[in-house]
Amino acid sequence: MTAQLIDGKLIAQQVRDDVAAEVARRVAIGKPKPGLATVLVGDRVDSATYVAAKQKACHELGMVSYHYPLPAEISQDELEKVIRALNADELVNGILVQLPLPSHLNEERVLQLISIEKDVDGFSPLNIGRLAQKGREPLFVPCTPYGCIYLLEQAGIKIEGANAVVLGRSNIVGMPAALLLIGKNATVTVCHSRTKDLPAVVRQADILIAAIGRPEMVRGDWIKPGAAVIDVGINGIPLLNSDGSPVLSEKTGKPRQKLVGDVNFAEAQAVAGYITPVPGGVGPMTIAMLMKNTLRAAQIQQD
Ligand code: NDP
Repeated sequence: MTAQLIDGKLIAQQVRDDVAAEVARRVAIGKPKPGLATVLVGDRVDSATYVAAKQKACHELGMVSYHYPLPAEISQDELEKVIRALNADELVNGILVQLPLPSHLNEERVLQLISIEKDVDGFSPLNIGRLAQKGREPLFVPCTPYGCIYLLEQAGIKIEGANAVVLGRSNIVGMPAALLLIGKNATVTVCHSRTKDLPAVVRQADILIAAIGRPEMVRGDWIKPGAAVIDVGINGIPLLNSDGSPVLSEKTGKPRQKLVGDVNFAEAQAVAGYITPVPGGVGPMTIAMLMKNTLRAAQIQQD
């Protein structure tokens, strides 16, 4: 068996096209362009790259991006002042605080402060609390898990009644992914670093969401034949020549890296029914779902 590829790049583009069309329709009838504020504290290169990609997506989809680069040494009070001002700013529909914050800042207090109607990342305790309660709906679902579920649904995979295994229990991916699957009536097992006999647990999965940040840890013989595999992991590993030596960059002379997921793709593809590639699977969905959430924020606040 060769698994059917779930093309995250294509599905993300369709989400983006739909968002752009709805933004254009709203602007044509006189509504303001949706606005997303990005708050970046400090100068982490990876965080700056993610924020730049989010700003670019805003522009491409006809939204407005307001960027707040703040010094790494900003105090809790000063940062909270910025968030309060953004909560009160009518031009700003969504607020995204790029995580992680420098260690002297209290992340929980900052996330708690974001108005629930502007919490487009879906990380505020109010949104997560609603996600965790039966019969309650969050205003916004965290973007990466939202993207995972969207990919499953677009691929036509039945979630109701399925045995789903989520590898990882982080606040931003594993835990909300598990809550979403429960909400869709899957029977869910959540695994983490203390789980015993991980391969045996994973072998029960009709649906596997892997979000552990361990390159290619999930092997082909862990996968139940025909399972749907959603690989969230983004891991850089050295790119090797056929003799096993590292491939060096022509520009910098440094060893080059390639991106792999948490699942050994070649092995899993031979067993699974459906699989997402890395790159080009879950990755592009995260920003697409952020744009969808920002549009939703504008709809909630302006309609
Ligand atoms: P975290 O490091 O916050 O969480 C990792 C989770 O995996 C933890 O729950 C940890 O368990 C568990 N874990 C770690 N090692 C093992 C192991 N050997 N066996 C079983 N469980 C293990 O990571 P994130 O959730 O933030 O990210 C996970 C991956 O997803 C990363 O590769 C990240 O780059 C990627 N990612 C991709 C995104 C995208 O847009 N595609 C967005 C966000 C993340 P414990 O709780 O016990 O420590």
